[in-house]
Amino acid sequence: MENSKNGYDVVVIGTGMGGSACGALLAKAGLNTLILEKNEKIGGSCSYYEKDGFKVDIGTHMFTRGNRGPFGEVQRRLGIPNRIQFKQVHDLALMKGMGYSIIMPKELYRYPIFYLQLYRELNISLKDFVGVSRFLHDLAMMPDSEIEKWNERSAEEFVYRYIGQNQRLVGYLGALLGLFFVLPFWEASAGEAIWCYKRVIWEQSLSYPQGGAHRIPSVFCEAAEGLGADLRTGSNVTRIRVENGRVQGVEVEGGRFFPARAVVSTTSLRDSVLRLVGEGHFPETYREKVKKIKKSSVAFQVKIALDRKIFEPGALFGARILDKSIDPEKITIDDLKRNYNNIMQGKFPEVTAVYAPVPSNFDPSLAPPGKQLITACSSGPTTDVELEDPPEKWMDEIVDSLDELIPGLKKHIMWVDRFDTKFTANWIGKEFGPAISTGQTVDQVGKNRPSIRTPVRGLYFAGDCAGGGHGVGTELATQSGIECSEIVASDLAQGLID
Ligand SMILES: Cc1cc2nc3c(=O)[nH]c(=O)nc-3n(C[C@H](O)[C@H](O)[C@H](O)COP(=O)(O)OP(=O)(O)OC[C@H]3O[C@@H](n4cnc5c(N)ncnc54)[C@H](O)[C@@H]3O)c2cc1C
Repeated sequence: MENSKNGYDVVVIGTGMGGSACGALLAKAGLNTLILEKNEKIGGSCSYYEKDGFKVDIGTHMFTRGNRGPFGEVQRRLGIPNRIQFKQVHDLALMKGMGYSIIMPKELYRYPIFYLQLYRELNISLKDFVGVSRFLHDLAMMPDSEIEKWNERSAEEFVYRYIGQNQRLVGYLGALLGLFFVLPFWEASAGEAIWCYKRVIWEQSLSYPQGGAHRIPSVFCEAAEGLGADLRTGSNVTRIRVENGRVQGVEVEGGRFFPARAVVSTTSLRDSVLRLVGEGHFPETYREKVKKIKKSSVAFQVKIALDRKIFEPGALFGARILDKSIDPEKITIDDLKRNYNNIMQGKFPEVTAVYAPVPSNFDPSLAPPGKQLITACSSGPTTDVELEDPPEKWMDEIVDSLDELIPGLKKHIMWVDRFDTKFTANWIGKEFGPAISTGQTVDQVGKNRPSIRTPVRGLYFAGDCAGGGHGVGTELATQSGIECSEIVASDLAQGLID
């Protein structure tokens, strides 16, 4: 509750995974907490809307660790273990395109068949058989101390360690490693990829929450309010006020000022430092570092409502080549790099890679009875890059690719909602709209991630921009929220920011 004289102990900016987790845990620690969200609805990237009986994610999500990872940890700390139910499906994903079609199973006991399918579909020679087997073995078995040594090397280097000449195979295995980070595999950290896949294999928790992705931040925000935190939606923070190197509080649109001893910002580091605080309040070395931070790719998204269930697996990881004269078996890594670089320069892709979770397969209540909801996305350039073709063409291409990969799809479409990259950037409030604002590149994981504490006393960063955690975006952001709540509570208790 607001103390009008001295303000709040902490103001948290944002109700995505990072902000909602951090805000709830700060309230649990007994701190007088205010959580501010610029949108009318909470959830950030994991927010939602409703249409014709469908409950649709704003983002495009799957969750790798269910309650075994940071989501479970937050609930345990809040005293509400397993309030969020994670749902699984028998076939986790269909990986299809470039001449292959492979089902990724849920159960560990089906992995030998999955591996056999992989060897057959990818035409793996006897020579590569040994390499691929060692690759799969190491993904599952590498000790964490060994994984750390791969943090600063790329997923591409990791794959080349096992596979010599077969470019298609390198491309395929590499794409799998980069997928979780919305990064091409020549930029993604191998250590981070191995860390995630090892947990996917052993924890068997690749899943989706009952009630939709927003169920996670909703449970955290409800808990925060139950513990006495104030939550205000429709409150756009326009300035984090800093005087003499110390945070004073935040100003929201309309001019109201909320004094606070500490402020946690969960928008990107760039937005917080350059826009909300002002770079003059930071030492030069720090602001130069912030300007050089690499973000993940941004995404065009489509939401597709179908009049019946036509696709069984939990997700589709697919690719299609537009130019039918190109032989998928002869695609090289240079071709893939050229295609990606063209996309980043705003040129329409020759190869479209599509990531398409099917939320209603995990939780049928997200669509009206008998209907199906597919959410899908593909990489696009940052919003400052001029597109050679209108955004509608890019989003139509996702639908066309899905129609090729899921035959008959178009015949069953009730409606398609298209979200371009500018929409996402505006919704999450992060410049350029990156899927993960501090991308998990070779130089930005583990000990090299930006720290939660900042040079400004009382100012902290959480979410997918900062903190020493690991994992896919939502889990990385939640872990950061946990870490940040511990640091802020401890600094306040020790009087470090009074
Ligand atoms: C297309 C796409 C696909 C993805 N796929 C996956 C996936 O499959 N699995 C996965 O785990 N992750 C995935 N991610 C990444 C994941 O969504 C994010 O990494 C994670 O949700 C980020 O959480 P966050 O708390 O850091 O930030 P966000 O969820 O972005 O929340 C930031 C919040 O801060 C608010 N805010 C910003 N500025 C202000 C301001 N000035 N005043 C008030 N409020 C403000 C925003 O409105 C927003 O609510 C995907 C992301 C995208 C975009």
